[in-house]
Amino acid sequence: MTPVTSANLTCPVCGVVQKAEMPLNACQHFYVCTSCKSVLKPKEGDCPAPIL
Ligand SMILES: [Zn+2]
Repeated sequence: MTPVTSANLTCPVCGVVQKAEMPLNACQHFYVCTSCKSVLKPKEGDCPAPIL
């Protein structure tokens, strides 16, 4: 099975929505807004618990 590893991130600064491919350890990643270059971090609630 292939886990869903994509998420839509909304920039809190300019409001642009970008689709980001999320690796399984997404909680350790951050993204830069393609529009205003602000750093976007996944919200804690968006991080699925790692399956060990
Ligand atoms: Zn932005």
